[in-house]
Amino acid sequence: MQFQNSREFAKDLDKKDKLAKYRNEFIFPKVNGKEVIYFVGNSLGLQPKKAQDYVNAVMKDWAELGVEGHFYAEKPWWDYHERFSEKLAKIVGAESSEVTVMNTLTVNLHLLMVSFYRPTEKRYKIICEEKAFPSDQYMIASQVRFHGFDPSDAIVEIKKREGEHNFRTEDILEKIHEVGEECALVLIGGVNYYTGQVFDMERITRAGHDVGAFVGWDLAHAAGNIELKLSEWDVDFAAWCSYKYMNSGPGNASGCYINKKYHNKKDIPRFEGWWGHKKERRFLMEPEFQPEPSANAWQISNAPVLALAPYLASLEMFDEVGMPALIEKRDKIVAYLEFILHEIDKEVESNFEIITPQRQEERATQLSVFLHGEGRELFKYLMDNGVITDWREPNVIRLAPAPFYCSFEDMYEFGQILKRGILKK
Ligand SMILES: *Cc1c(COP(=O)(O)O)cnc(C)c1O
Repeated sequence: MQFQNSREFAKDLDKKDKLAKYRNEFIFPKVNGKEVIYFVGNSLGLQPKKAQDYVNAVMKDWAELGVEGHFYAEKPWWDYHERFSEKLAKIVGAESSEVTVMNTLTVNLHLLMVSFYRPTEKRYKIICEEKAFPSDQYMIASQVRFHGFDPSDAIVEIKKREGEHNFRTEDILEKIHEVGEECALVLIGGVNYYTGQVFDMERITRAGHDVGAFVGWDLAHAAGNIELKLSEWDVDFAAWCSYKYMNSGPGNASGCYINKKYHNKKDIPRFEGWWGHKKERRFLMEPEFQPEPSANAWQISNAPVLALAPYLASLEMFDEVGMPALIEKRDKIVAYLEFILHEIDKEVESNFEIITPQRQEERATQLSVFLHGEGRELFKYLMDNGVITDWREPNVIRLAPAPFYCSFEDMYEFGQILKRGILKK
């Protein structure tokens, strides 16, 4: 499609956008009385208007029913988390028994490593990407030390090539084969948080299995952003937070996926608690643990229902719209943003460098852009003028126009503000 850098053209794209009406289902922060242009749905998604009602419903049931709400609330609390499995399973490409919600992301990855990282003297290495999200680095290093290994030996980082911004699949596959029988676990972010690069999860998972390792994915930047087929790819486990693209609210609960082949396996250990006990026997308070025959066996505590409520509100919207429609708009709005960036770049004779891969298979909602020659003042100018972006030193902005609520006109308007911010120097 031939794009144009004009307000009329952008408005016309909005008019043709089947998802345009959803913009009104979200609450936008305001700067100077005007709704912001929100590029940080990859960090904290906007609040769906329905979220408040879902929270209020739980508060009301609590007020009116007290503890009886566990069984007699309109959406009973004792199995509230089960409302997520089927809908989330569609988003990550899994069976509903393979998916559950619990805890928060890093906590879940630790718990999943209890099951899937059990190093031996010969097989103890973990392969991850260099400069992974810091929490993942700390988590992996502490797990390795917990098992008595030395992180500098046991953690193998896949590196980017000199002068390149992204990882090459062939380098990842090669590294997996090189570590071979020493590799216990491959654990990578499915979409790189810094560059937005989408990894070839299918091939990487297969390579990990070829050398006899488990393969898990941190899907923090992938869930609600890209098409996932965890079952088909035969991924062993995965976890994601829900507050980024999935708009569930700050610090909210994590989703996790555990391949069904491990659900009833006695040789897969896990840390257990009463919420993983067989549902119909949970309140018999028996001394012996009997696991639910699903990912729910990994549940430990009773669910944080007040936190899950806004997540459920958001998830129902995802279910209504479906990932294919979101992905279709995503690709178009990101391509338009890329076009706008190039147009503005020409006008201001700057030298923007988009470090996110150009190939559609390797990117999703996020564009990470090096603004050579610009500094923090530009970031401040954007913020002061109602453009919320994420700035990383030295001068990279990450722009993620979430297809659920960003408009094509936002992209045009952003270009104009960016231009003014640069020319003003
Ligand atoms: C956002 C993010 C996290 C955050 O972890 P929490 O436990 O939810 O604080 C972890 N890993 C990656 C890759 C992320 O992008």
